[in-house]
Amino acid sequence: MNEQRTLFDVKVRSHQSDKTKLGATKTGFGMTLAGVLLLGLSIVAISWAGTYWYFVIGAIGGAGLIIGGLIYLLFSLIKPTKSVICLKCAHEHKIFKNALSYVCTNCNELLLLSKDPQQSLAFSTCPYCGLKTAASSDAAPFLCPDCGIMRRTDSKDVGPQKECSGCGFRVPEEAIYCVSCGSMLKTDLQSWTEKEIKDLVNDLDWRAGKSPRGHLYFAKALLHSLNAFQNRDNFKDIEYSPFHLLEESLISLEVAANDEKTHQDCGKLLPEIDRTYARLLNWELSVIESTLSESGSSEGFDKIPVKDACITPRRRLEDLFGEELQKYGSLGKWNADLLKWEQVKSPTGRPLDKYRLVNHDKLKQESTRFAEWVAKSS
Ligand SMILES: [Zn+2]
Ligand SMILES: [Zn+2]
Ligand SMILES: [Zn+2]
Repeated sequence: MNEQRTLFDVKVRSHQSDKTKLGATKTGFGMTLAGVLLLGLSIVAISWAGTYWYFVIGAIGGAGLIIGGLIYLLFSLIKPTKSVICLKCAHEHKIFKNALSYVCTNCNELLLLSKDPQQSLAFSTCPYCGLKTAASSDAAPFLCPDCGIMRRTDSKDVGPQKECSGCGFRVPEEAIYCVSCGSMLKTDLQSWTEKEIKDLVNDLDWRAGKSPRGHLYFAKALLHSLNAFQNRDNFKDIEYSPFHLLEESLISLEVAANDEKTHQDCGKLLPEIDRTYARLLNWELSVIESTLSESGSSEGFDKIPVKDACITPRRRLEDLFGEELQKYGSLGKWNADLLKWEQVKSPTGRPLDKYRLVNHDKLKQESTRFAEWVAKSS
């Protein structure tokens, strides 16, 4: 197994920096600097080309960024901090006093903190899945990162229960998977992505608290949920692009595939990932072709979530599994750059923040390649 950082590690680390004085200072400084540049450029443009409205807006935006950046910088310099010692690796972190969670940037352990800096951390064990989480004794109730039930640090209560449809074991209603037989219990995608209630897909603290096993079940749950959505109209109902959800699934899978205990189970999932991707390619193709025939134009695709978002995490899995891809029955390497885009220009030749689809020939080929593979492999 390789020791390099996973995509998920990179994602989590950048999300933690604003909880430290150094990180917040950098953000404030960056904002101020960007504001100075924008204001300077706009003023030069106004004196050179005249007061076009977008130069004036640029100047006002630049001034706003400078003020915002300076206020942010000031607050991050005077905001009180506390010292937190990671329960797993004993690394000491200086973070803002009001931070109620922190992911140790040294060992990736999620630390659930209390408002009271005197409270020390201890491992709390999930009464259902057994995951150990570093939490202070008066930390707020939290969702178990692995199994998804609501936990209190000192409680053995798993909440209301039901029977597992796979094996009949008594399982908590909120659980993502059955600890007895491994069946997936929660595959309702809408409930994963409701931003107002809890957006589990983008809740990085929740995801960072997972063990490799938790990452595997999360990846599986997203895949199963995506498979429940079959056609174009259904996909409109979900909060994110289905490609984004597949991307997040692959990102978690990389974490699980790097661990010896879950590596093999990740491998067994590879053909299902290819089948899910085959369906998404087909969906993407149908969205593009029906949009083209309805509007007769290839502009306006910014509203439709079509992009190659999954390729980066997919490449990492391909590298990680290498020869094993065949062994597990995967289709193999996915092709990139399936859509050809061109930036739209204004009548005066100025590039606009808009793209036009030039062609989707490679998407058609890729979709056919996957469809043929699905027909052969099933
Ligand atoms: Zn640590
Ligand atoms: Zn749990
Ligand atoms: Zn079961």
